[in-house]
Amino acid sequence: LEADLREAIAAERFALHWQPQHRLSDRRLMGFEALLRWHHPERGLVPPDEFIPLAEATGLIVPLGAWVIRAACAEAAGWPGDITAAVNLSPAQFRHPGLVATVAQALAASGLPPHRLELEVTESLLSRDLPATERLLGELRALGVGVAMDDFGTGWSSLAHLWRLPFTKLKIDRAFLRELPGDRRVQAIIGTVLGLGRTLDMTVVAEGVETEAQAAWLLAQGCAQGQGWLFGRPAPAERARALIAAELGMREGARSAA
Ligand code: C2E
Ligand code: MG
Ligand code: MG
Repeated sequence: LEADLREAIAAERFALHWQPQHRLSDRRLMGFEALLRWHHPERGLVPPDEFIPLAEATGLIVPLGAWVIRAACAEAAGWPGDITAAVNLSPAQFRHPGLVATVAQALAASGLPPHRLELEVTESLLSRDLPATERLLGELRALGVGVAMDDFGTGWSSLAHLWRLPFTKLKIDRAFLRELPGDRRVQAIIGTVLGLGRTLDMTVVAEGVETEAQAAWLLAQGCAQGQGWLFGRPAPAERARALIAAELGMREGARSAA
């Protein structure tokens, strides 16, 4: 698989699928998350969970991740309006010294305004060298991009360090959503995360929103945004473009009606 992966990186046999993120209050389309897919000649479309760990362990994630950043910026630069693009960074990629330059170059080459790019990292970063993490997140923020804490609530060290770090967004892991709205204990945890987001001035996004009941509960609790099958599954770039066109048409319609 490692040899296959090397070859696929050289041949750029990857694609980004895009999953929409919506504001819960009025269901406005805010942006998309880029999710990597590998077009394998025999195995078809391979999901990231099956090759990211290998890419991470072998260091191949650095060139692969750089491709993702460039491809995501290039695609998003063609979107009209203020729609944002989120890109996942793995821990090895985050620790690699070339990251800030890679992001800066991808922004410059594509012309994407920095505030329309968001980088997602996971809690595992918080258990490592905290001053280095703080410095690097600061450098990325200085470029003007957003930084999101992904899968929040699944790691360990998060609360002790979160307040120090310049995150713009918190994404509640979808493991919590599975128990929503039924379980009162999970409701309490999500309520706490929402309070944290308000205090730390971070936008909270719920991941894995699958039902209207979940969306309604989250909205009532003050959660800003949702991402999940209720709003749309990850889909190829053409589909994302069609969703953006429909959304902007709807906004235009609403403006002319007013
Ligand atoms: P993630 O960043 O937390 O992405 C969300 C995952 O949840 C995606 O899985 C998405 O398809 C899935 N999902 C979204 N909504 C729902 C829902 O309503 N219900 C359920 N059951 N699942 C939902 P996917 O695409 O398989 O990606 C898995 C993980 O792989 C991502 O989790 C991310 O950590 C990683 N990944 C994806 N693309 C990249 C990449 O370009 N670079 C790196 N380093 N990691 C990536
Ligand atoms: Mg993510
Ligand atoms: Mg996530």
